[in-house]
Amino acid sequence: MRLKITNGTIITPFRYIRNGTVVIENGVILGVHEGNIDFADATVINAGGNYIAPGFIDLHIHGGGGHDFMDGSEEAFLKIAETHARYGTTAMVPTTLTSEKEDLLETLDLYEKANANNHKGAQFLGMHLEGPYFALSQRGAQDPRYIRNPDPKEYEEVLAYSSSITRWSAAPELPGAIAFGKRLREKGILAAVAHTDAIYEEVLDAYENGYTLATHLYSAMSGVTRKNAFRYAGTIESAFLLDMDVEIIADGVHLPAPLLKLIYKIKGADRIALITDAMRGAGMPEGESTLGSLKNGLKVIIEDGVAKLPDRTSFAGSVSTADRLVRTMIKMADVSLLDAIRMITLTPARIMGVDKTKGSLVAGKDADIVIFDEDIRVKKTIVKGRIIFNQE
Ligand SMILES: [Zn+2]
Repeated sequence: MRLKITNGTIITPFRYIRNGTVVIENGVILGVHEGNIDFADATVINAGGNYIAPGFIDLHIHGGGGHDFMDGSEEAFLKIAETHARYGTTAMVPTTLTSEKEDLLETLDLYEKANANNHKGAQFLGMHLEGPYFALSQRGAQDPRYIRNPDPKEYEEVLAYSSSITRWSAAPELPGAIAFGKRLREKGILAAVAHTDAIYEEVLDAYENGYTLATHLYSAMSGVTRKNAFRYAGTIESAFLLDMDVEIIADGVHLPAPLLKLIYKIKGADRIALITDAMRGAGMPEGESTLGSLKNGLKVIIEDGVAKLPDRTSFAGSVSTADRLVRTMIKMADVSLLDAIRMITLTPARIMGVDKTKGSLVAGKDADIVIFDEDIRVKKTIVKGRIIFNQE
């Protein structure tokens, strides 16, 4: 189980190592070296002069390849993981939409099954529950029928039901949301502010009680508002002002170039995670599609490289893949390749608390690696030393 990847420019992502070699044993990186070093009895991968980078980590994803994590099948999980692996993703956090509790519990069951059988796709880093504790006014494409306030009876039941939840997004201004955040922190679950109308004072309270991440910054959240003559800072300004992490849908559609640049200027590569927030249309042709489960989902249209509600008043999730996020940050936000890669590798790994084993190419970490060309077109994807995608 020895592997050697050679003849490429390594992105660690702290620096470039030109004409470098990565040596791997039993799925773990043994070393990262300059030049072509000897490594006896190893399978050799010639990177062909391309880039060799840590695998992409997507913290917020609903689907791809025609499937949604809420479709109610193990197959959906596995196919989504395979689809996005083709675009460089080696780890992801499967995400739910607001739904009935029964559908949520069923999805958590399927997660366990799929996780045990996931050998051909990106790895799963636990489940992200997006909702149902959201502000109705900021629901975006979340189904209003299922939006409600945090209810300890309900969330304690869900938390007791599954140990696979690693992340939960909620609106911090709702009654009971602060107690909910404290409870998540106690359980070691990442709490994020999302679909919210909170003002600064409410976000500060939330931040001090467990909420350390802003979910898809600028999408479905408050900015500056005015009550009578007085102005109030919203969630966006709070995310900038506090030492919060932010995730952004960098598909080039959800956020225009000036906002991408502004976020990067203020937060920097250490605080920004690039996410796809992809729905089932990712990796599929444009046209009609369904957001959420096939059973209870909303009809949407995919056009201009994004999913929209049928009346075109709101986006309904992205159809992006991870490679496109990196390209967008370089081409639209003028970010360096090193920083763009960092925002989809080391920073999301640190936010999820898995940076001891993932997120950079250094000795001792998992051999999760992606090989891509100058245009970020993925050639090979490797998970724990196994090639799971190979563009022939
Ligand atoms: Zn989402």
